[in-house]
Amino acid sequence: MDDKRIISLLEEHGIKPTANRIVIARALAAGKVPLSLKELEYSILSIDKSNISRTLALFRKHRLVHDIEDGGGCVKYELCMSHAEDGDEDVHVHFYCESCHKTFCLWDTPIPEVPVPSGFVLKSVNYVLKGLCADCLRRLSIRRR
Ligand SMILES: [Zn+2]
Ligand SMILES: [Zn+2]
Repeated sequence: MDDKRIISLLEEHGIKPTANRIVIARALAAGKVPLSLKELEYSILSIDKSNISRTLALFRKHRLVHDIEDGGGCVKYELCMSHAEDGDEDVHVHFYCESCHKTFCLWDTPIPEVPVPSGFVLKSVNYVLKGLCADCLRRLSIRRR
């Protein structure tokens, strides 16, 4: 994603595109998979940790990032690709690999509509599948031979 696209993404979400915010959004976009705070810290050496987590909190407030609890013990963040201010239109299934601890976005996996009891309001859903990713499966089966 180029900087122009990142700046407009920030602006679409009502966030002033400062230099640090652009760097952090760019790192999230470059990650391809959702990243934890620690992984972001590794990829952004020029900004300190508290600044990164403050920026992530701001991104979350403006719904520029989704946070995903993949059960791996730390929250991961990804850029939201929908432009709806208050709805989560790009809800998708995540796959957590128990071997390499990466979380993958499964864009093409359909999500069933889950009914909630009357009087309840659904705000977000968190679908996480767990298992082994293709790379790990390959690696493990080679090792077994
Ligand atoms: Zn894996
Ligand atoms: Zn995702």
